[in-house]
Amino acid sequence: MARVKLQDINKVYENGFHAVHDVSLDIEDGEFMVLVGPSGCAKSTLLRMIAGLESVTSGDLIIGDTRCNDVQPKDRGIAMVFQNYALYPHMTARQNLAFGLETARKPKAEIEKRVNEAAELLEITELLDRKPGQMSGGQCQRVALGRAMVRKPEVFLFDEPLSNLDAKLRVSMRMRISRLHQQLKDSGRPATMIYVTHDQVEAMTMGDRVCILKKGAIMQVDTPMNVYHRP
Ligand code: ADP
Ligand code: ADP
Repeated sequence: MARVKLQDINKVYENGFHAVHDVSLDIEDGEFMVLVGPSGCAKSTLLRMIAGLESVTSGDLIIGDTRCNDVQPKDRGIAMVFQNYALYPHMTARQNLAFGLETARKPKAEIEKRVNEAAELLEITELLDRKPGQMSGGQCQRVALGRAMVRKPEVFLFDEPLSNLDAKLRVSMRMRISRLHQQLKDSGRPATMIYVTHDQVEAMTMGDRVCILKKGAIMQVDTPMNVYHRP
């Protein structure tokens, strides 16, 4: 598990656009933090910087005890779940789940064990031989979540993972993700989760804390209770 600490982070894109302004945020070990705000408020930019998919212009990004500004994405102990699933279309669900572990040269038995465990938890065991084109959006998103899980990352990053799903599926995936967070906590191996959304309901129901962003700056960080139910 790992704490994720942003200290005076700024992001200026190559075209000169100043997207993130002096963001400081301390996300605790094992915490579920939701980043919420309207389109364009820099939620994805922040998440991509934490993932290492986007450079940090100034400030310090600390994951665990390490300053990670210049650390390779694969060495950050994170796994990301994307809105568009980002599954390999020519591979089966099983191959998609196993691929990252194979490239990381994990032993075959260990890969099989992790894939089967994740599949069982996400109820996709019967789907393992299907390719993404033969699965629904909700099924693909469960495989994508499984692919992040099998890495056993210290930090999970979610970039609007449910926005392509219909309302009913969103509710069940929301519960699945919350349950995963709880199960990891109960197993003594908690993971920090950072979840980006523009959906107020998700922000209200999923996070230990919510961080509200506006135009690249933090407006408020507090528990959902204090953010949404203050008299
Ligand atoms: P959100 O995820 O909250 O919708 P983004 O992080 O995608 O917001 O974008 C934040 C701001 O940065 C937006 O104004 C967007 O247009 C701008 N932006 C995003 N990516 C780039 C880029 N590669 N170059 C320049 N500006 C960008
Ligand atoms: P690719 O060949 O597309 O990069 P891999 O699964 O081989 O896919 O991943 C290469 C590296 O990128 C891995 O070491 C892994 O740490 C990182 N990586 C791949 N997918 C993710 C993800 N969803 N979240 C975080 N890191 C990832």
